[in-house]
Amino acid sequence: MLDRYFDHASTSPLDPRVFEAMRPWLTGLFGNANSIHEPGRRAMAAVDTAREQVAALIGSDPMQVIFTSGATESNNWVLSAFEEVAISPFEHSAIREPARHRGHTILANTGLTIEFPEYAFDLVSVMAMNNEIGSLWPAEEIRARISPDSLLHSDATQIIGKRPFDANLTDFASLSAHKFNGPQGVGALFYAGTPPEPLLRGGEQELGFRAGTLNVAGIVGMGMAAQLAGEEMEARAAHATHLRALFLEELEGVPDFAVNGGPNASPFILSVSFAGIQGETLVIEMDQAGYAISSGAACSSGSNERSHVLMALGVDETYLRGTVRISFGMANTPDSAQQNSRTMAQIVRKLRTLT
Ligand code: PMP
Repeated sequence: MLDRYFDHASTSPLDPRVFEAMRPWLTGLFGNANSIHEPGRRAMAAVDTAREQVAALIGSDPMQVIFTSGATESNNWVLSAFEEVAISPFEHSAIREPARHRGHTILANTGLTIEFPEYAFDLVSVMAMNNEIGSLWPAEEIRARISPDSLLHSDATQIIGKRPFDANLTDFASLSAHKFNGPQGVGALFYAGTPPEPLLRGGEQELGFRAGTLNVAGIVGMGMAAQLAGEEMEARAAHATHLRALFLEELEGVPDFAVNGGPNASPFILSVSFAGIQGETLVIEMDQAGYAISSGAACSSGSNERSHVLMALGVDETYLRGTVRISFGMANTPDSAQQNSRTMAQIVRKLRTLT
């Protein structure tokens, strides 16, 4: 079952080892991590361990990691704290929408190259790895190209656990546990210097920077998932690279098809476009054949809106409409990748004869 799930960029299954780490905190052990009694202190000790595990993965000090409810919150938090903000044209809706709401600037691009003006913004936000096409914008390159007076935020949601990510190259970075086999509904914000002005005010949790009772089980799960992702990163990347190559091999005979994302895209995310068909229809047919894939970002697929990422890249309309995303994970096998690809090729041929 799980081997036919190819939508890890939208969410990934909870690793059983992560679940085992969380289990005590969902059953016998409990306690408000900010209580001073024994159960509370024990919970805080578990949170501290998780903070160290997450910090180790991104090369930061544990004190620079603040737990949140996920990358959407982390992104909204950073964007709400600055006046003059510029975002890349490739951002996820969890950056795009808060930016639009606040009238922030969307930068232009030439292909995958983002165009930065010489003048400074308070904050520039550029994702590290794109969720639709897997393209990479390394923080060191972006840092070198923006004004030295601009702070840099990186939505690192898709890169964490996939490639080494050094948070110290940024001023702020957003993380989400469920993209690297941790639980949903928990994430973090890294800050280099000072945390942004609080978005959630209330209790004194997280040193007063993020109010709300800590999600101890979720945080423990995020910590364990971060540790495992660090230990297994190379093996996971090699696995994804192998599956991607097998997948593409099987598609070789299909005419009028293109791979998006450029030559250096992440092996974990494969965006392919088939001219003359509807991506949504292909996703539905694949689902009926037992394969979970996506027609883009899960958050906008289903809305029938065209991908702003592919539009920014000038992808031809007929290809743009026929785009699907396959995102690989640990439970996929060479066999399931090949069968997925073969099934897709058959369905594409069938859909083309219908139009
Ligand atoms: N940013 C990116 C690049 C994403 O892919 C996602 C999840 N699709 C998010 C932000 C939102 O993350 P979360 O689900 O943790 O709110």
